[in-house]
Amino acid sequence: MRTIESNLITKLVKDLSIKANLELRKDVLSALRHAKKRERNPKAKRVLDIIIYNALIARKKRLPICQDTGMVVVYLEVGQAVKIKGDINKAVKKGVLKAYKEGYFRKSIVRDPLIRKNTDTNLPPIIHTKIVPGSKIKLNVVAKGFGCENASRTKMFRPTVATSIIVDFIVSIVKEVGSKACPPIVLGIGIGGTLDKAVSLSKEAVLRPIGRYNKKLHVARLEKEILKKVNKLKIGPMGIGGNTTALGVSILTYPTHIAGLPVAVNISCHATRDAGKII
Ligand code: SF4
Repeated sequence: MRTIESNLITKLVKDLSIKANLELRKDVLSALRHAKKRERNPKAKRVLDIIIYNALIARKKRLPICQDTGMVVVYLEVGQAVKIKGDINKAVKKGVLKAYKEGYFRKSIVRDPLIRKNTDTNLPPIIHTKIVPGSKIKLNVVAKGFGCENASRTKMFRPTVATSIIVDFIVSIVKEVGSKACPPIVLGIGIGGTLDKAVSLSKEAVLRPIGRYNKKLHVARLEKEILKKVNKLKIGPMGIGGNTTALGVSILTYPTHIAGLPVAVNISCHATRDAGKII
């Protein structure tokens, strides 16, 4: 059994929360640069230039990429041969608390969703824990802004639905609300499982680097088709028009019930932020 002190988890969550907010993912930055080269609309090109410049300034000057420093979502994969000394959930929360205090990040969380008083700590985070084989811990910290979270949708389809109807549903969401989600966006799509599993898959899908497609060929084909159709909407960067509405589409699937077909669409903005580490 390998023992890991909970203090180490706190330090990692703190460091990764800060990194996610200050350093745009390399694959996102590279996708933005590629998009800029391909973009034919001069205004859209200029907007992409500003988005890229903003990300570079944030990294260099240690400033947040966006004023909305998000709700923190932590993915923990804990090896079953690991013993955590201390309370892992408390350790994660302490890490988030320290990051948002020391980083002077905006605190965006309200304690009660109906009364809406700010916790002033950015706590609590959402914590997903998976027990996996091995003696390592994998941590991923996501800072999710709510401009794009509010644009996300889900639908329970009939099991007999044609794939083209699912594609139309996804494209219609982007058409309806894509411009409000600070495009160019990254689309995470979950198909299958139960309602909650589909949503969870759509969140995890965004963690996959842009340009890496699903290993199942029929799913990868769908990812490419959706990306093409979404970009044909010509919403463009920050809704100004142009060829770049989405940078990438990632789909994750899971077995489901014979009587249904859940589909969840998680929209992530150009500030698609997460950072991870394995210990
Ligand atoms: S949607 Fe993204 S880029 Fe837009 S304000 Fe929120 S975090 Fe910032």
